[in-house]
Amino acid sequence: MPEVPAVITPRKLTRKVKVGTQFVGGDAPITVQSMTTTPTTDINATLQQIAELTAAGCDIVRVAVPSRDDAEALPIIAKKSQIPVIADIHFQPNYVFAAIDAGCAAVRVNPGNIRKFDDQVGAIAKAASDAGVALRIGVNAGSLEPSLLQKYGKPTAEALVESAVWEASLFEEHGFHEFGISVKHNDPVVMVKAYRMLSERGDWPLHLGVTEAGPAFQGTIKSAVAFGSLLGDGIGDTIRVSLSAPPVEEVKVGLAILQSLNLRERRLEIVSCPSCGRAQVDVYTLADSVQEGLKHLTVPIRVAVMGCIVNGPGEAREADLGVASGNGKGQIFVKGEVIKTVPEDQIVETLIFEAERIAAEMPPG
Ligand code: SF4
Repeated sequence: MPEVPAVITPRKLTRKVKVGTQFVGGDAPITVQSMTTTPTTDINATLQQIAELTAAGCDIVRVAVPSRDDAEALPIIAKKSQIPVIADIHFQPNYVFAAIDAGCAAVRVNPGNIRKFDDQVGAIAKAASDAGVALRIGVNAGSLEPSLLQKYGKPTAEALVESAVWEASLFEEHGFHEFGISVKHNDPVVMVKAYRMLSERGDWPLHLGVTEAGPAFQGTIKSAVAFGSLLGDGIGDTIRVSLSAPPVEEVKVGLAILQSLNLRERRLEIVSCPSCGRAQVDVYTLADSVQEGLKHLTVPIRVAVMGCIVNGPGEAREADLGVASGNGKGQIFVKGEVIKTVPEDQIVETLIFEAERIAAEMPPG
């Protein structure tokens, strides 16, 4: 039996909702989502970007549907995408029905942006139920209902949760339960508070997101901190990292967050030291070169890249493979044993050779 990796807190058991070929919530693995940036009307470009996202490990993709023409592109996109497609609808309830008819796996509706949304809930619930399509009630700080903004003064965690719980109750009154919820805010502190409150209120599967998180560096930090806090407490069933960067980057960050928390199998993991005054090798370049040289591996493998022998043998012992550098040489470790010492300019090629040899002996990932 493979060892089950430890997690900080067991996941809260939520309702399991089918989203096309995936499930969200319950005992389903936590999925990673992203959103295309191409005009949805450009079907080829959108499908190309979905293919890139799929290759990067994206589980579910969302596409924007701002116009009738975008809605008309949905049937082909939904049919040809390898991963479930969620239509993102604001303002126009008619497009919700178009997306359901188009064969989308799910539809994200933003109650704050659909006028007279509450009047439409029964019809939406029936259409979605008949078609086996899931929904996401996607509440967003930037588009909260005016009545709640007036009540709370600004989009507080309480306001986001009140909006979400109210909309959820409307769908549930119509006997519809196949939906998840998000309560996104650009401030991780408010966002974390909102999701914690929401998690206490029901068993809905929760889609985590820090909205408008910012450019890659800031957005990565905000998302990692917020998701780490929630997922570490067992809250969250699917995640979307929002970055002002190509969507493939969102997927990479999302997967890395899950891997860091043992919620996804770790693939290539480089354990490299930060370097210090003792280092006798350029650790940064060495670690980057090893990462680049091993990125094609699809099996979980841990490689220690250490600048000297202070911690090198210890880290190398815990890793599948490692190097402790110094004096123009590298001691190469496999499973904690020194197997050879090579000149510095052969460290990278030796690690790649040994990693591929170890990978060939492992079951395929
Ligand atoms: Fe410094 Fe050596 Fe530790 Fe790297 S392994 S940080 S070089 S002491």
